[in-house]
Amino acid sequence: MAKTSQPVSVVTGGAGFLGSHLVDRLLAEGHRVIAIDNLVTGNTANMGHLVGNENFRFVKQNVSNFIFLPEPKIDYVFHFASPASPIDYLELPIPTLKVGALGTHNTLGLAKDKNAAFILASTSEVYGDPLEHPQKEDYWGNVNPIGPRGVYDEAKRFAEAITMAYHRYHRVDTRIVRIFNTYGPRMRLRDGRVVPAFIGQALSGQSLSVFGDGSQTRSFCYVSDLIDGIFRLAMSDFHEPVNLGNPREMTIKQFADEIIRITGTKSAVDYKPLPVDDPKVRQPDITRAKKILGWEPRVEFEEGIKQTIDYFKESLKG
Ligand code: UDP
Repeated sequence: MAKTSQPVSVVTGGAGFLGSHLVDRLLAEGHRVIAIDNLVTGNTANMGHLVGNENFRFVKQNVSNFIFLPEPKIDYVFHFASPASPIDYLELPIPTLKVGALGTHNTLGLAKDKNAAFILASTSEVYGDPLEHPQKEDYWGNVNPIGPRGVYDEAKRFAEAITMAYHRYHRVDTRIVRIFNTYGPRMRLRDGRVVPAFIGQALSGQSLSVFGDGSQTRSFCYVSDLIDGIFRLAMSDFHEPVNLGNPREMTIKQFADEIIRITGTKSAVDYKPLPVDDPKVRQPDITRAKKILGWEPRVEFEEGIKQTIDYFKESLKG
């Protein structure tokens, strides 16, 4: 049935960084898209270019409350709503827990009711401060449930558990994507994450705030690569979690040096205390994504960072 008619997708968090890029990709693939967002960390500017697009509809709602959509046919429900930067979820601990728990329950209920496929945006944070490196999907993680990051990590772990329960018990057609650090245009300049923080500081001549001694590592994936992996996963029939991210790992100090080099700023580096439970290493093992989805990142670090710098230059003007 879905084959002969236009696919319909729901994207929660559709006004956010990843959600809005996903909306664009789905529209480009010919879907009709309903974006739902309560705009706590999302921004309508990320959907401004879609005003008047007859295939797009925006619903302002908190998905931690019951979701009613009148559409008789929905093919895909993408649950991407959540505060997602460490600063955001420290400021919004209860909404973060609720959207990962109640929001996932509600969106699974919607998918079950409409007989839609369900795609959960999970995270590398389910691995916590990992004792295995790089991280494979079969690693169970090292998470502090009562630490400040626990509100995000445990909510996402619960979200994975309830997604698998709906799959096994209710036979909902589910997917789980574990998203590693991703960057690109539409990140919020002041969301506290390292990419906007360093670029914003470099462009305004402030020192780059390296937390700890900068020896902790991250692996940064450009947003278009990530969205391509998510689309491929949605179109697959694979139900186990899949890591998506770029395995190119670097220390945070190296990242600061790269931003200084590429922007040409005169800014120095300023060392600040390391946040509690900050993971010391992070790098995705993407063997599964390569095998199942035929996917791997294509955008070079320097190219992606230049695109992102251009975006923040424009944001700083506004
Ligand atoms: N970080 C930093 N300076 C900042 C923001 C973050 O050194 O201004 C570090 C942070 O401690 C972490 C890494 O950069 O080790 C990535 O942080 P981010 O908040 O981007 O995301 P995380 O990967 O920790 O979820």
